[in-house]
Amino acid sequence: MTHNSALKIVVIGGGIFGVSSAVHLARLGVETTIINDGPVANGASSRSLAWLNSARKRSAVYHKLRMLGLDRYRTLAAGHASDTWLRFDGGLTWDADDASNQIPEMFRHEQAIGYETRLLAPSDIAAVTPGVDARAVSPQGAIFNAGEGWVDLPSLIGLLLKEFLARGGRIIADSGRAEITLANGRVSGVKTTSGHAIAADAVVVATGPAVPRMAAEVGKRIGDGTTRALLVVTKPLQHPLRAVLNTPRVAIRPTPNGAFALDSAWSEDEVIVRDDGAYDATPLTIAGLLDEASNVLDGNPMLVLESYHTGPKPIPADGEPVIGQLTGIPGYHVIFSHSGATLGLVAGELLAEEIVTGTPNPMLAAFRPGRFDD
Ligand SMILES: Cc1cc2nc3c(=O)[nH]c(=O)nc-3n(C[C@H](O)[C@H](O)[C@H](O)COP(=O)(O)OP(=O)(O)OC[C@H]3O[C@@H](n4cnc5c(N)ncnc54)[C@H](O)[C@@H]3O)c2cc1C
Repeated sequence: MTHNSALKIVVIGGGIFGVSSAVHLARLGVETTIINDGPVANGASSRSLAWLNSARKRSAVYHKLRMLGLDRYRTLAAGHASDTWLRFDGGLTWDADDASNQIPEMFRHEQAIGYETRLLAPSDIAAVTPGVDARAVSPQGAIFNAGEGWVDLPSLIGLLLKEFLARGGRIIADSGRAEITLANGRVSGVKTTSGHAIAADAVVVATGPAVPRMAAEVGKRIGDGTTRALLVVTKPLQHPLRAVLNTPRVAIRPTPNGAFALDSAWSEDEVIVRDDGAYDATPLTIAGLLDEASNVLDGNPMLVLESYHTGPKPIPADGEPVIGQLTGIPGYHVIFSHSGATLGLVAGELLAEEIVTGTPNPMLAAFRPGRFDD
């Protein structure tokens, strides 16, 4: 296996994928620059529910990659035992009490693939994980996945950037939009609207929802299923909930300062796009999400809005990650995925290794951007 640490690499995007790729490149001794249009961590990574999981039915390879994602977080947590921004207090999931309920089937599936799982009757939940109003849980029961957790991505990005800088990495924030330059059909560098021009042997395009558009600029299609998203954050409160809750009307996770972050499918559908292209949410949607959260929490506490955050949620069209080099464009690598919190550490690690060694990693074989080529 060759190891080319003499490479100069530019990573475009200061979200979790860009920063993770960059720190892993720096660990391999590569001269690496991160470029971000605005301040770092200003995209989807700043407003993620960031539930760390491999729940529900996905392809076997995607499940395996998400399990490796959880594994890397476990390793990180072992070195940061007292930190409040990365927790493994489990995840509790239930579905609506109607024909769409998949809980018994999901439980059997998770058992069959060896994913740690328990099916709990509503009345059994309090003995396993605190803070849930059992009356809100469907009679089919809830699945408790003890190995799941959550991360505060801005905290993680801050930690990784500290290491990146200590290893000699360079960050150019507030650069305006970056574009890739090609020469003789391969990557030659990056230029930005603020006037930076940097020569590079390779680039990692980790621009979240902008990845498909950027790939299209060099004639490559990446199927795009990006949606609108809304994350509501409450004011801190005294409440026993520790697990991440995934319920029919709201998902809830604790935050490092004792508040809750909330999202849901229905409130995402209600996100509006203004004439200038900016995303927003109505007071009615936000109040509705706070109410839904209160309904599933023990004691039905009054939840008070601290902040809300709207914007796109990057999702590939087929739901599976897109990681690796664009076919036919040497040096042009992309990283674009839905479960970017769960995959953040491992995907950056595997991509960095294969760029530096030149050896494709079999774990990423199913996730190449080339699957969208005609
Ligand atoms: C509401 C919500 C809930 C979620 N829940 C979960 C969950 O429970 N579990 C999970 O695993 N994942 C979850 N995700 C997904 C996860 O948060 C994302 O997959 C991940 O944060 C994406 O990170 P990224 O680095 O790809 O993109 P981003 O964080 O968006 O970073 C991309 C960066 O690139 C910059 N940029 C864009 N274009 C350019 C350009 N041309 N030049 C320079 N800079 C540029 C942007 O400003 C941004 O800073 C959720 C996401 C959202 C929004």
